[in-house]
Amino acid sequence: MVSPSQPRQDHATLAEKFNRDEARVDWHDKTLWFIREKRDRAARTMPEWEDLREAASQIKNRVLDNLHDYLLQFEAQAQRNGVTVHWAANAEEHNQIVHRIIQQAGVTNIVKSKSMLTEECHLNDYLHKKGITVVDTDLGERIVQLAGEPPSHIVLPCIHWKKEEIGELFHKHLGTPAGNADPQFLTGAAREHLRQRFMTSRVAITGVNFAVAETGEIVVCTNEGNADLGVQLADVHIACMGIEKIIPERKDLGIFLRLLARSATGQPVTTYSSHFRRPRAGQTMHIVLVDNGRSARLQEESFRNALKCIRCGACMNTCPVYRRSGGHSYHYAIAGPIGAILAPALDMKQHADLPFASTLCGSCTHVCPVKINIHEQLYDWRQVLARQGYVGGVKKLGLMGMAAVLARPRIYRWSGAAGRWFMKYMPSLVNNKLNPWYKQREMPAVPRQSFQEWYRQNRQQHGQQR
Ligand code: SF4
Repeated sequence: MVSPSQPRQDHATLAEKFNRDEARVDWHDKTLWFIREKRDRAARTMPEWEDLREAASQIKNRVLDNLHDYLLQFEAQAQRNGVTVHWAANAEEHNQIVHRIIQQAGVTNIVKSKSMLTEECHLNDYLHKKGITVVDTDLGERIVQLAGEPPSHIVLPCIHWKKEEIGELFHKHLGTPAGNADPQFLTGAAREHLRQRFMTSRVAITGVNFAVAETGEIVVCTNEGNADLGVQLADVHIACMGIEKIIPERKDLGIFLRLLARSATGQPVTTYSSHFRRPRAGQTMHIVLVDNGRSARLQEESFRNALKCIRCGACMNTCPVYRRSGGHSYHYAIAGPIGAILAPALDMKQHADLPFASTLCGSCTHVCPVKINIHEQLYDWRQVLARQGYVGGVKKLGLMGMAAVLARPRIYRWSGAAGRWFMKYMPSLVNNKLNPWYKQREMPAVPRQSFQEWYRQNRQQHGQQR
């Protein structure tokens, strides 16, 4: 497992580390697939599922085409509701704004509900350096925070942790009895611990799932009600959102809320979908609208689609690479297929490995509730990265070799025959430590012939029998 303070390693190296614990990999894989199947069952209960996806996709397209206007409409409505609106061009500005508001409130302890934007901006680290203690109140986020790790999944931040490990962690940090890993008991202990923080925090930060341009309100979805408790007890509410979270009208929520929960966990609806429109009497409310590379992405025809993401996590749950390499292997706040297309837009050099962490099977695109063409963008990113010189020499050479073989049927057939011969008579030439596939797998028995030969032979036999 990685912590933010460790030097960055690439996806393959981090995935290899995760793969050393085979039992964890199998269980991680199965748990996420279980959620993917729940999502499928939930989607099948709604005959209009595909219509909802199409409607959501079109609404988000409209938002991206008119983002400037919707943002100004949202700002004006929010100000009319008594909310202070801030604009941040990048992560640094966002962190400075949040810090300033906390300073003005004169506090050093705050609570925060789940917000992937604040992860993207590394807000906790920033505030920690300024002497402010941030307590993450989502249970999964609190677990990874106590462990000194970033979340490994956008909806299920501690999905890589076993309950026994959480029991040990709570024993160390919260003083629960050693060896008690009962989920209900641990949840109760976390509730007690967090309640103290809620009661004493005068500033609460939340993320934003949807921001309605028509009304200036924001909607925050949680299963634990932690955002509501934090905001209701605090004197100051700071809501942090990426500028792409806008939806035009309140009635659009009927589409997005139905898609979000079903795609994320297979639930019909998130337990709490809380609307925050104006500060209550005596409270102040701030909304920080963050760009951080989003406007630049809006201008890139091939990649702007990624801004439609509603952070449901379905593409992660279905991705065979994510399921078997773990969220931390992506070394970015947002892991999985969507992270692999968002991260290089922010820093091509740092994240040039991520678009290659995919089989391009297209399963992510298939489940995405807002119809983002994720696997096509992964493929497009590879080409951009190769053109910009961010693909390593060995990989480039390998790809050139593959291209030369695949473009020439005769050489392709000959290579297949040679490969089968070597695998049979000189297996150590293929099955050695230099072959990364061999490290994790037992090689299959060598086939007698190529599929093409088998097909020709069987088709001929089939034709003779008829
Ligand atoms: S890309 Fe689609 S499937 Fe993945 S998190 Fe975003 S909305 Fe969900």
